[in-house]
Amino acid sequence: MKEMLDKIREQAEKQIAETVTPESLDEIRVSVLGKKGELTQILKGMKDVAPEERPKVGQMVNAVRDVLENSIAEKKKELKAKVIEKKMESEWLDVTRPGNRTVRGHKHPNQIALEDLERVFIGMGYEVVEGPEIEYDRMNFKLLNIPEDHPAKDEQDTFYIARHDESKGETTEDDIVLRTQTSSVQARVMLAAGRLKETSKGFPERSLPIKLISPGRVFRSDEVDATHSPSFHQVEGLVIGENVTMADLKGTLDQFAKEFFGPDTKTKLRPHHFPFTEPSAEVDVTCFKCHGTGRVKKLEEVKEDGKLVRREVDCACTACKSSGWIEILGCGMVHPDVLEMCGINDSSNPDAPVYTGFAFGIGLERVALLKYEIADMRLLYENDIRFLEQF
Ligand SMILES: [Zn+2]
Repeated sequence: MKEMLDKIREQAEKQIAETVTPESLDEIRVSVLGKKGELTQILKGMKDVAPEERPKVGQMVNAVRDVLENSIAEKKKELKAKVIEKKMESEWLDVTRPGNRTVRGHKHPNQIALEDLERVFIGMGYEVVEGPEIEYDRMNFKLLNIPEDHPAKDEQDTFYIARHDESKGETTEDDIVLRTQTSSVQARVMLAAGRLKETSKGFPERSLPIKLISPGRVFRSDEVDATHSPSFHQVEGLVIGENVTMADLKGTLDQFAKEFFGPDTKTKLRPHHFPFTEPSAEVDVTCFKCHGTGRVKKLEEVKEDGKLVRREVDCACTACKSSGWIEILGCGMVHPDVLEMCGINDSSNPDAPVYTGFAFGIGLERVALLKYEIADMRLLYENDIRFLEQF
């Protein structure tokens, strides 16, 4: 019996010494000391041992158990220390190392200009309304008084998605286009607010007066060059109420120009024609570079007595082509036919209230290019972070 116990102890101690993981150590413990372990089996077999021998055998078994339990505990400590050591080695942290810098994006000049514009108009009590980029001919053209034969409706100017009567070469009001202007939002809002109460998705019934700007992407089939792109952005404004006059329009645009381009900016209205408005005007602002003088001072290197010196020279302003004025937008009083078609006014009812209103359209890229002195519109769409970071 003693030999058998010695053999079990020797074998187990050898295994314990060789083991390298806490898991395999536990396996050894179970196989020797566990319920079905070798030592336990011997204790269970005591009934076959002569009664006078039993205490002795019991002592021997317990002695081996004590020895093995000690060895296992020692080994366990050793392995635990090793695991911690290994972890320390693999997970060391150099607190003096510089952190990883997160690359931050940058707001696009268009977005900066848009937020600036929105801030100005929200400050004047306008709401911001957006609408679909894919639009019905009726919303984009017909309700805005753009006649069937208007050149803007030509396929060379407008992207048609679906034409219902292509065979006749005519457009119908159900034709679907990529909107050429965000004025289509104005049509939808007027329909929802006027006596027709015609609502559409995103345009629930509302009441008068209307005071909104609608920013968004528009599409025209233009070739890409320094000042054109098939897709660009507009911010259109619409105000409709009782006794709205051209003086309100002029005052609004004056305020916008002062806040957006600088407090000494002046505005000038030139007569123009737009189908949507009558009368219509184009608006110029005094050049923000030369402040309307048409001349700017520039530092130039010139040779004086054989030496290069820097001198301030007077030269023509390139921003306004020395005219002192820069064209920024189109505007006018909303055409009576538009107010009638969109259900704002009802000429057949002499008792119905008569509303008037004004509208304006700002090219977002145009003002961004002007404000940030960017020479080529294509730079806005290349998304080169080195370019964008400058604004
Ligand atoms: Zn100028």
